[in-house]
Amino acid sequence: MSNNILAALVIMGLVYLTARWLSNRVKPDYCESCDGKGYWESTRGERNDCDLCQGTGVMPKEMRRKRK
Ligand SMILES: [Zn+2]
Repeated sequence: MSNNILAALVIMGLVYLTARWLSNRVKPDYCESCDGKGYWESTRGERNDCDLCQGTGVMPKEMRRKRK
């Protein structure tokens, strides 16, 4: 009985990881640094343009190749 629960947990974990992996592949152009928002908020609540994507929220393709 406990083996079945363990197997179910392992399968759920694999499904979760696969879904995460797929969603990362579907949205490859979002900037990793600012999550596609184009800015990041400082501790004082100010909005600063993201340096990596220069405020666009989209990761330049040449930048992605360099990072990999
Ligand atoms: Zn960014």
